[in-house]
Amino acid sequence: MLRRTLLAASRSPRLERAARTAPVARSVVRRYVAGDRAGDALRVTRELCSAGLRVTIDNLGEDVTERAHAERTAHEYVALLRRIAEDGLAPWAEVSVKLSALGQKLGGNGAAPSPDGEKIALDNAARICAAAEAAGTTVTLDMEDHETVDSTLGILAQLRVDHPRTGAVIQSYLRRSEGDCLALAGPGSRVRLCKGAYDAPASAAFTRRRDIDLSYARCLRVLMNGRGHPMVATHDPRLIDLAVALAALGGRDPGTYELQMLYGVRPRAQARLAAEGQRVRVYVPYGDDWYGYLVRRLAERPANLAFFLRSLLGR
Ligand code: FAD
Repeated sequence: MLRRTLLAASRSPRLERAARTAPVARSVVRRYVAGDRAGDALRVTRELCSAGLRVTIDNLGEDVTERAHAERTAHEYVALLRRIAEDGLAPWAEVSVKLSALGQKLGGNGAAPSPDGEKIALDNAARICAAAEAAGTTVTLDMEDHETVDSTLGILAQLRVDHPRTGAVIQSYLRRSEGDCLALAGPGSRVRLCKGAYDAPASAAFTRRRDIDLSYARCLRVLMNGRGHPMVATHDPRLIDLAVALAALGGRDPGTYELQMLYGVRPRAQARLAAEGQRVRVYVPYGDDWYGYLVRRLAERPANLAFFLRSLLGR
C-alpha cells in the first residue's frame, strides 16, 4: 500500500515542486545522485573505478513532452560519451538510457509509446549507440513502466542490428519476463535483470515479494544458462549468492557476467564483492531531474521515508 502511494507520488507535479524547494531534501538526494552535472558523475565514476568498480552513468529524466527536450538529452549523452573516452574511462564506464527521455511517448497521448515517438526515440538512441561505439563502450536501455516493454524491446531489436552490444533491462516482477529472458539469452546479448521499480497491475505483475524473488531466480537461471552476458542488478544478498553459485555451476568466468547495484545502496557490499574477484558495476545517476528516481528509491526502502518527509516539512 505504502509502495503504491509512493509510486503514485513519483508522478505528482505538486509533490515534486514541494520536494524541489525543500533545501534539506538535498541531503537525501545526495545519497543516491552524483550531482547535477556530467562533471559530478565523471568525478564519482573516477573514484569508483579507482576502487576497482565499473560504472553505468544515467542522465536523469523521463517522459519528455517536447521533441527539443528529447534531442537535448541525446546530445547530452553524446557529449558525456566523448568525455568518458577522453578521460580514459571506457570500457569501465558505460551509459544507461531511458527511451521515454528520448521521445518514446511523444505524439500520442503522452502516457504510452506511440509510433511517432518510437521513431524519434530510435533515432536518438542510435546516435547515442554510435557515440558509445566510437568511445569504446556500451549502452543499456533502462526498462520503465509495464506498458513500454514491447516498445522498448522492439527498439532494442532494431538498435542491435547495427549496435549488437546494446543491452536491455528485464524486470522479474512482470509475469512475462521469463519468456523475455529466453528470447534474449542468445550470443552477444546483454541483459540486466532487476526486480522492477514501477507500479503495475496484478494482471501484468507479481505483487508478493516471494513471487517476485522466485521469478528473479527463474530468469537468472535462464540468463546464466544462456550465451549472453547477464547483468545481475540487485542488492538482495540471497539472489547475489544464487547468481554467483549458478555462474560457478555453469563454469562461467567472473568476466562473463556482472553484479550491479545502485549508487548509494550497500556500498560496502559493492567493494567487498569486487575485492572477492566479482565484476561489479554501479549505476550512477546525475542531473537535476531527480524527483521520480528518488521517490522510487524511497519506495524500495520505506525506512528512508521518515527522514525525507521530515526534511520536506523542514523539521
Ligand atoms: P530489495 O528486496 O528491494 O532489496 C534488497 C536489500 O537491498 C534491502 O533489504 C536493502 O538492504 C537494500 N536496498 C534495496 N533498495 C534500497 C534503497 N533504495 N535504499 C537503501 N537500501 C536498499 N528498475 C526498473 O524498473 N527498471 C530499470 O531499468 C532498473 N534499473 C536498475 C539498474 C540497476 C543497476 C539496479 C541495481 C536496479 C535497477 N532497477 C530498475 C531497480 C530495481 O528494479 C529495484 O527496484 C531495486 O534494485 C531494489 O530491488 P532489490 O533487487 O535490490 O531488492
